[in-house]
Amino acid sequence: MGRRTATSSSIREFPLIRQLQRRFERGHPSIVKGIGDDAAVVALPPKSWTILTTDLLAEGVHFDLRTADMASVGFRAAMANLSDVAAMGAQPRFLLVALAIPGTLRASDITHLYRGLMQACSGAGVHLIGGDTSASRHGLFLSITLVGTAPPKHALFRHGARIGDRLYVTGTLGDSLAGLQLLSHTEQRASRRRLSAAHRRFLVDRHLRPTARVAEGRWLARSGLATAAMDVSDGLSGDLRHLCEESGVGACVETALLPLSPACQAYGLVHDIDPVTLALAGGGDYELLCTARPQDEPALMRQAARQGFQITRIGEICPRRVGITTRLTDGRTHPLPVTSYRHFE
Ligand code: ADP
Ligand code: MG
Repeated sequence: MGRRTATSSSIREFPLIRQLQRRFERGHPSIVKGIGDDAAVVALPPKSWTILTTDLLAEGVHFDLRTADMASVGFRAAMANLSDVAAMGAQPRFLLVALAIPGTLRASDITHLYRGLMQACSGAGVHLIGGDTSASRHGLFLSITLVGTAPPKHALFRHGARIGDRLYVTGTLGDSLAGLQLLSHTEQRASRRRLSAAHRRFLVDRHLRPTARVAEGRWLARSGLATAAMDVSDGLSGDLRHLCEESGVGACVETALLPLSPACQAYGLVHDIDPVTLALAGGGDYELLCTARPQDEPALMRQAARQGFQITRIGEICPRRVGITTRLTDGRTHPLPVTSYRHFE
């Protein structure tokens, strides 16, 4: 494949792959063959379900190398995929990375990218088993494939929500969007005035270093308590729609119940923004959205508390004809507009 993959600049394909292998490949009993052959070979637990997901990130569309460092790009890319596996209730296990590298980058940039990728993955127990490397004439392209496993019949799907179920979310919402806004220059200057350094750090960290809720997803799947689940990657107002569409239902979100971090609330105050707007619109929090039957709520809350998982009821599932609405503190309901991130727009 030398002709197609010959990279310009200082990068040479095979030394780069060898270097990545040396630095980032770790053996595991389940890996029969990792990097170095025509394809990787793994042995999965017998009868387990295999969960597969892939994501393509393009420079200028998903990330901007003028503002984000390579390690953060890698970290966020891996987290987005880990979050997809988490939302299926599965254990992520293996990682494949395909790259198209522009001539402007150096081998050390790619090493930094992998450092971010592997930092996100190692905490989740994921091993690098292969990839592909090519030159690019139009910016950096990064494609990530994750392989996970789940006990048979215990994956979580978007399609299982039923009328009367309650709607829950893990963690807090809106932090990543607030962090992104803080990283933009004008916001930075304005907010130095009253937002504490600790709150700033928290929000920026939630944007650059989000955490996929892998343990929470596995618990929800194992416990059998969740009727449906997905991750909040683009923003609640849009993502909830996907869950409802797949389940053939509507939903009502009570805005007063949305979990907001102290930092996000402080950010809202300083900038005169309703943090609820951030919570509904903000992508990149990588929390899990799930539904459960009302009679299962005590067990859900008890088990979450025992394991130290934060989970909050934010609304309920309604008939499809009601659509997707928000109930405000004064009791009035309104249709929920999509304010979250959309491609091709
Ligand atoms: P092929 O020509 O069959 O595509 P390559 O020479 O591209 O094979 O790849 C050789 C080995 O290096 C394979 O095991 C492949 O998975 C691995 N590899 C290639 N590029 C990467 C990468 N960017 N990250 C990790 N592994 C890689
Ligand atoms: Mg190849």
